[in-house]
Amino acid sequence: MSNLIVSKFGGNSVATAESIKKAAEIIKSDPARRYIVISAPGRRSHEDIKVTDMLFMCHAMFSNKEKSYDDMAKKIADRYQEIVDGLGINFDLEAELSDFKKSLVLGRNADYSVSRGEYVMAKIFAQYIGWPFVDAADLIYFKTDGTLDEDRTLKEAAEVLSKYEHAVIPGFYGSIGGINIKLFSRGGADITGAILARALNADFCEKWSEATQIFSADPTIVENPEIIRNITYQELRELTYMGINVIDEDVIFLLQQVKIPIRIRNINYPDDIGTFVSDEIPGDAARNIAACIAGLRHYRFIHIEKFGLNKTKGIGMKVFQIFTNRNISCEHYISGIYNFAIVVKNPMFDLKRNEILQEIRDAIHPESINVESDLSLIAIIGKGMGTVKGIFARVFDAIAAVDVKVRMINQGADDLNIIIGVHDKDFDTTVRALYNAMILN
Ligand code: ASP
Repeated sequence: MSNLIVSKFGGNSVATAESIKKAAEIIKSDPARRYIVISAPGRRSHEDIKVTDMLFMCHAMFSNKEKSYDDMAKKIADRYQEIVDGLGINFDLEAELSDFKKSLVLGRNADYSVSRGEYVMAKIFAQYIGWPFVDAADLIYFKTDGTLDEDRTLKEAAEVLSKYEHAVIPGFYGSIGGINIKLFSRGGADITGAILARALNADFCEKWSEATQIFSADPTIVENPEIIRNITYQELRELTYMGINVIDEDVIFLLQQVKIPIRIRNINYPDDIGTFVSDEIPGDAARNIAACIAGLRHYRFIHIEKFGLNKTKGIGMKVFQIFTNRNISCEHYISGIYNFAIVVKNPMFDLKRNEILQEIRDAIHPESINVESDLSLIAIIGKGMGTVKGIFARVFDAIAAVDVKVRMINQGADDLNIIIGVHDKDFDTTVRALYNAMILN
């Protein structure tokens, strides 16, 4: 039994009165859900614009003295009006939005104006469910250098919220320098949820949205893949690295540090337990060898051949420095005796390819450099998997059976994943083969 849950409802959970009603029911269905973090309204359909984006645009239009800012301000007001009407509450929208308009006239920074998106939404939500509203500016503090003041935030948030049995809190921002507001990076309401879960030492931090279900493989490639029910923080971070952006890495890290589990849930399936993220897979949870198969296409594979590589010090470092200077991260490094390969993904590499290759030639005088441009990386993710006997035989048998050539293989030092490189054209076939071999069997 949980006593205290911090539940965060994302933009699409508060995009319409309908979804807000679903969220309210979910909250009321478990008395442990006591502190609710709210985003600004997200998209109602694919073509729609998020309120946060509209607020950014409106602020920019006003700053550039574009008259159209007025239309944008009206569109923002209409979004909230539709919600207030749909909820059937008597909410003084004009008074609340006047703060936003004033912030433009007074020339306040974009962060302040944009933060009004979550501020107003949390006030509406609080009124609808009849719980107190607590402003994030009184809970979350940034230092003047723009970094989070973690000590002050954890202390003050715990102190302030201890006075409330329940509260609705706007996500995505905190206060800086006394009177100003600073936003987290985009999608940052999750960070608010994680920080408050830490401050309150919550049993769980929940993330509710309309879209999130974490599958053990891409459902556009594998038919009806299984939903991942249990995953560790580390595995989820690997998955995020492989492009499955369910939750920001910083959020996972914040909660992993104090071992507060995360539940990822979908407001359209409130009875579905979703995905449970924790430090260890619970002992009674059925688990296949791997948690999931995830991959990305279009990596660049740079092979460098250099005689004497094994005897000369600092060659790799010189090459890394060239990429570092250009702010391109080297995603993987594979070393041989006379050769090594670097895997990069950054489009900057394509733009500056000739210059970069020349710099490498000048720096280390290699025998040859070749670039393969159509490499896909596919990760088989599962904690402890690397220690399972016969695991590689299983992986390679599966790939050989579908006649795919493996371009590279990399096993993480932490036994969390095995990464296979194949040609882009073989991506789907390999994902399916690995799913069948490592998840289904
Ligand atoms: N509303 C903000 C955004 O769109 C923050 C969030 O939703 O998490 O990025």
